[in-house]
Amino acid sequence: MEIEKVAKLIIKNFPRDHKEKDPFKVLITTVLSQRSKDENTEIAAENLFNKYKTPFELSKAKEKDIYELIKPAGLYRQKAKRIIEISKIIVEKYSGIVPDSLEELLKLPGVGRKTANIVLYVSFSKPALAVDTHVHRISNRLGWVNTKTPEETEFKLMEILPKNLWGPINGSMVEFGKKVCKPVSPNCKICPISKYCKWEGKR
Ligand code: SF4
Repeated sequence: MEIEKVAKLIIKNFPRDHKEKDPFKVLITTVLSQRSKDENTEIAAENLFNKYKTPFELSKAKEKDIYELIKPAGLYRQKAKRIIEISKIIVEKYSGIVPDSLEELLKLPGVGRKTANIVLYVSFSKPALAVDTHVHRISNRLGWVNTKTPEETEFKLMEILPKNLWGPINGSMVEFGKKVCKPVSPNCKICPISKYCKWEGKR
């Protein structure tokens, strides 16, 4: 199938390693990454986890205690509130263990399908398809889907991609979207899957 072949080409050409697998750290880092560049998210996560290593430690922190640590990721007041709320719930409701089901993860404040699916794949090795703006845009450009929202894209992609590609396609499409198939001015001349792309704006 062509879609499977192209998905494998994207994964091969734009690999993304997930070094950190600890569910709590992956969850909190994904919250930090909202509207933040990767390099800034990394700095904020490192600052935070150097000082607070577990949900138990973070659940006792005050929001203002972590402002400076996570400031590099932006929206630090809002994110500090979320992170401490999530930590408290994980300690109080789940005995300090991040749940490994989509349903439970979605109950955490500020955790949407994208974040939950990243945790499920990266930390629990479950087949889970996280759709962010890169995955949504590229899937539409390629002609794999014709959708209006990331959520719609997630469900369509689950129908057309084999389960073993659900997890890896996210990170690889993010890399591909940052380096080649950018939101504005995609670099189609160097695109390794250009011949499979159905986008009318292809350059
Ligand atoms: Fe993106 Fe251009 Fe490649 Fe199509 S040809 S996938 S628009 S970079």
